[in-house]
Amino acid sequence: MANQEDIFKKVISHAKEYGYVFQSSEIYDGLSAVYDYGQNGAELKRNIREYWWKAMVQLNENIVGIDAAIFMHPTTWKASGHVDAFNDPLIDNKDSKKRYRADVLIEDYVAKIEAKIEKEVKKAAKRFGDSFDKEQFLSTNQRVVDYRAKADSILKRMGKSLENEDLADVKALIEELEIACPLSGSKNWTDVKQFNLMFGTKLGASADSAMDLYLRPETAQGIFVNFLNVQKTGRMKIPFGIAQTGKAFRNEIVARQFIFRMREFEQMEMQFFIKPGTQKEWYEAWKEKRMKWHLSLGMGEENYRFHDHEKLAHYADAAADIEFRFPFGFKELEGIHSRTDFDLGKHEEYSGKKLQYFDHEENKSYTPYVLETSIGLDRMFLAVFSNSLQEEELENGSTRTVLKIPAVLAPYKVAVLPLLKRDGLPEVAQKLVDELKWDFNVDYDEKDAVGRRYRRQDAAGTPFCVTVDHQTLEDDTVTIRHRDTMEQSRVKLSEVKDIISKEVDMRYWLQKI
Ligand code: ATP
Repeated sequence: MANQEDIFKKVISHAKEYGYVFQSSEIYDGLSAVYDYGQNGAELKRNIREYWWKAMVQLNENIVGIDAAIFMHPTTWKASGHVDAFNDPLIDNKDSKKRYRADVLIEDYVAKIEAKIEKEVKKAAKRFGDSFDKEQFLSTNQRVVDYRAKADSILKRMGKSLENEDLADVKALIEELEIACPLSGSKNWTDVKQFNLMFGTKLGASADSAMDLYLRPETAQGIFVNFLNVQKTGRMKIPFGIAQTGKAFRNEIVARQFIFRMREFEQMEMQFFIKPGTQKEWYEAWKEKRMKWHLSLGMGEENYRFHDHEKLAHYADAAADIEFRFPFGFKELEGIHSRTDFDLGKHEEYSGKKLQYFDHEENKSYTPYVLETSIGLDRMFLAVFSNSLQEEELENGSTRTVLKIPAVLAPYKVAVLPLLKRDGLPEVAQKLVDELKWDFNVDYDEKDAVGRRYRRQDAAGTPFCVTVDHQTLEDDTVTIRHRDTMEQSRVKLSEVKDIISKEVDMRYWLQKI
């Protein structure tokens, strides 16, 4: 555990030191669960957004993108259920005075049981060697079977109590499991209460005419209310999708995991409108498609898994998360939800407008069903950043810190380094910068010995370094160094652009989808 915490601390301090993520308003001691992206962070975030947008919108003829306002008519949030049901069950510890999400306390307890299962599997794998059959072990080892049954029954009971709004039973479960406050170890709990997560604000100047508004807690509703506008003006035929990226706001209670859970964050959502009755197929298809998108980045298949929801939200008939192995364990990165006709149906009911689709093939109108994929941009940023940060032992016994961000997402693609600050080398290097900057973000660095500059670029995540030396003046060749392998080769100046282009090209990465 200490080790995990150390790694996470390193991630946070590295993100600050290299201009990726700063605390918001840091000079005033920061604002809890709000963060700013620095010069490198803003680029990484933009690249992730674009990687998502191109994969979803540009590469799918039947998906288009919109950009809806953050403010929406307040009735939107009545229709969507957020006014009545966007609540978290909270519990306070009477001794430490700390507030927790009751479901998170229980899920953390279950995660500990799952860690025990993983430990048993590892032990057995070691004992049995090559003949180890994991599936068989999971289904026959009595200890593991008991752990699994216990974990499942806890989650099932919690899901049921939350669904029935039986908060007394949620508290009873916490007490029966003897869950203690992680901070104080005390088991002295208050009752579980509901707390609405939306931020309120006002539109208009005078007190009596002002209108109560909310900052949107998700981008999805901007898509639903525009369903007809887009369908009609784009002459879209079902099945089709509408995508959107943008800010969302939630007054989160448990906000202690850096950019994993923020009060202001960005979502990348896609609502796919389908014929009722086809939701099962589309649910499976989108689960697969989204997982492939993640895997295309090459961050390790073993770091992802699906988690099917026990407790379904009021709008869903099936839901799964894509979980990622963050420095603090497997957690939700993206949600895939089969939302039925709940959203469009509710907006029809509250607005009095028909939000239906006329299906020419079937010769009838219906309210489409919706399949949603929803991913947090900041969470994806944390997944990429934390997975990329590595300490490597080198052959000469020293270590290097390297940020192995997939080249397609890296903020700066290349650094141009004149070997010395004289003999005309800076001028040649600058000329190369001026040439490359039309295609990529280019860094120029002439300070310190070249070895130190390489280390700096490794730690900042730059996939290529190009060094201009005396030989360049004679034969127009330069050294190109690859961040991940540290391999260097001599290439023609005129080839540099093509070499880099190939490796940072989205096509190369996304074609793995
Ligand atoms: P959680 O259970 O972690 O609170 P959620 O199930 O409420 O998340 P959704 O409402 O499904 O999340 O939102 C879709 C995605 O938006 C999530 O998968 C996550 O990546 C992202 N997200 C949600 N809340 C936050 C937050 N407070 N900060 C950063 N990202 C968030």
